[in-house]
Amino acid sequence: MIEVKNLHKRFGNLEVLQGIDMKVKKGETVVIIGPSGSGKTTLLRCLNLLEIPTAGEITLGNRHLVFTESVKIKEQDIIALRKQTGMVFQNYNLFPHMTAAENIMEGQVTVLGRSRDAARKRALELLRKVGLENRAEMYPHQLSGGQQQRVGIARAMAMDPDVILFDEPTSALDPELVGEVLKVMKELAAEGMTMVVVTHEMNFAREAADKVIFIDGGRIVEEGPPEQIFENTQHERTMQFLSKIT
Ligand code: ATP
Repeated sequence: MIEVKNLHKRFGNLEVLQGIDMKVKKGETVVIIGPSGSGKTTLLRCLNLLEIPTAGEITLGNRHLVFTESVKIKEQDIIALRKQTGMVFQNYNLFPHMTAAENIMEGQVTVLGRSRDAARKRALELLRKVGLENRAEMYPHQLSGGQQQRVGIARAMAMDPDVILFDEPTSALDPELVGEVLKVMKELAAEGMTMVVVTHEMNFAREAADKVIFIDGGRIVEEGPPEQIFENTQHERTMQFLSKIT
């Protein structure tokens, strides 16, 4: 489904990604963990071209993109790849002047060309799915952070993407609201949605991940099923990181 080869990303002199190779199979949940500044968010943003990689290759479905410093990626390739990848942001990024339902309808109408009726029907279905059927007409400021993030997840799903990318989806939430968002994410994972999740929630990684990738200094240090990463850690750096946060 997704294959990343020797991906590099530089900001000025700072090489944030230093040759990432990763594969995500259809239906898998891959969780990316690592210390602050290790490049996790940058990797996720490279996967949907919110950042353009400096070098390397990304294959998503039957789309194959090669990055070099000399060749500019075509706008139509960027748009096409973004359509395939939903994104859930740390700070929800909902439109403040639109209701929950309208937030979920917007991309369906403007990007996918669905009718407003069809988009609204799908928005209400998805609001039901994330437990917010009675919040459809509320504006973001009338919703808790956990509810806003569940609208964010519904909005990503509404685009029928091949994969949903989650960038620290619970780290802006009060602790008592984290559970309701992780519950929705676990349900999605169990239903076979392909997901790549950057998170510090190790219990989510333990319970929902098919594969955990530990990144440090822009490189993958260790990857494997959660039992291996958490119970049979192979690398000293992974051990140090886990001992600090669990
Ligand atoms: P955290 O867990 O704190 O969110 P992270 O592992 O997600 O960290 P990134 O956000 O990917 O790390 O950042 C990696 C490095 O790249 C940091 O040193 C950051 O300052 C730098 N960086 C990220 N985005 C940019 C940018 N647009 N311009 C310059 N430097 C950037």
